[in-house]
Amino acid sequence: MERVRFAPSPTGPLHIGGLRTALFNYLYARKHNGVFVLRVEDTDQNRKVEGSENYIIESLKWCGIEADESPVKEGSFGPYRQSERRETYGEYIKQLVANGAAYYAFDTPDELAQAREVAEKETGGFKYNHSNRMTFSNSLTLDAKRVDDLLEKGDYVVRLKVDANREVVCNDLVRGVVRVNSNELEDKVLMKKDGMPTYHFANVVDDHLMEITTVIRGEEWLPSLPIHELLYEGFGWDSPKFMHLPLILNPSGKGKLSKRDGDKNGYPVFPLQWNESSGYKEQGFLPMAHLNYIAQLGWSLEDGKEIQTLAEMEKNFDVSRVQKAGARFDFEKAKWVNKEHLSRLSSKELIAGQEDLFESMKSILGDRLEHCVELVKERFELLSDIEVQMNVFMNDPNAYDEKSMKRISKFDVNEIGGHLNDLLINGTDNLKERITERAKELEIGMGAFMQVLRVAVVGGLSGPDLMPLVELIGKDVTLRRIERLISN
Ligand code: GLU
Repeated sequence: MERVRFAPSPTGPLHIGGLRTALFNYLYARKHNGVFVLRVEDTDQNRKVEGSENYIIESLKWCGIEADESPVKEGSFGPYRQSERRETYGEYIKQLVANGAAYYAFDTPDELAQAREVAEKETGGFKYNHSNRMTFSNSLTLDAKRVDDLLEKGDYVVRLKVDANREVVCNDLVRGVVRVNSNELEDKVLMKKDGMPTYHFANVVDDHLMEITTVIRGEEWLPSLPIHELLYEGFGWDSPKFMHLPLILNPSGKGKLSKRDGDKNGYPVFPLQWNESSGYKEQGFLPMAHLNYIAQLGWSLEDGKEIQTLAEMEKNFDVSRVQKAGARFDFEKAKWVNKEHLSRLSSKELIAGQEDLFESMKSILGDRLEHCVELVKERFELLSDIEVQMNVFMNDPNAYDEKSMKRISKFDVNEIGGHLNDLLINGTDNLKERITERAKELEIGMGAFMQVLRVAVVGGLSGPDLMPLVELIGKDVTLRRIERLISN
């Protein structure tokens, strides 16, 4: 049974990159009939931001990719918040020290600062590792009695003992084998003075205890992979499979996608509103379309097909089609994907899915609502366009497009308006045929009639199919709009 996890730190809202990680985990789980776990990595209480855990949970809910096990849906591997697992880490750190894979270190901040200063002068950098650990104050250098005394005081950290000059072999499902020489690594702190684990330690212990089979996360964690491999080795545990997702680049392709860039160029980077920043939901994106676009940031189908429902993505997800290279974010493309999803919904589905949006229109348009939506549906890119486009059925134009007015000013608008009036008095049946006939009789171009009628009804020369539109708004409203145009 495949078990995967999304393990965000609640240090702020969920960014597009985080949502993509969650999505790929979800898709992988569904594809393999596995389990998708949400684990909140909140050991660093200083960086914790109030409300962000809830925000993450709500965002996944809006998107329709909720976790099977999470802090709000306990399975049998809980607790699912790291801050509630402190005792577990305490037990496991002892085990790692007993295995000889970690050691206690008692260096004071001053001692470390001094060592750093000297090292930076001499070699340009400082690493606490095999080359200098025997010169520091730790359980490898002090005698047992002294170590016991210092442990009693509680003022210590636990460090990973990385052996010198060996090859650490890591496997990544996207990149293949990654080899690192251990000399490049550091004896990372695993447990802090306050008894809280660091990310590396808690992450590995939890992935093991939660029986995670595949770790899917952003590329920024790739440098941590050798440390994690050494931790698994130190415990004598099998490591899971790893998949690191490519970076998401900003639209220019220079650098990572950031909130600042989004603010500057007018696109959201969060799924839902967060403080002043509006999210994809508020901007009028369908959750499924948002996910569909996000899935394209690093994954593509072999046949190039771009529009997929969530169910299709679940079926089609294929690790071997996940790319290494950074994926460039493109807001125009995101909107296009949304438009495609909107146009694939039937009017009935669209209305049913957006009850609030259509409520007042329903009371005005009644049975005609579905037909009205059908007529303008292809013009919706964002949900916010619905109100704008549906306005034509509800309100007379409150202004006329200047260019269009200029175009029709070469016709005798009064005369044509009069004829249209005459033709409409008996209703809208066969209106087009009757206009054609009349135009022929008068030897006036059919285009003149149609253009005048369109400007009267819509306020300009663009807009949806005219005859069905006139039929939907009805004879009286059309007559009123012709009248208004003439008096303008
Ligand atoms: N807590 C880490 C983060 O905030 C998780 C990294 C991982 O998935 O291992 O992204």
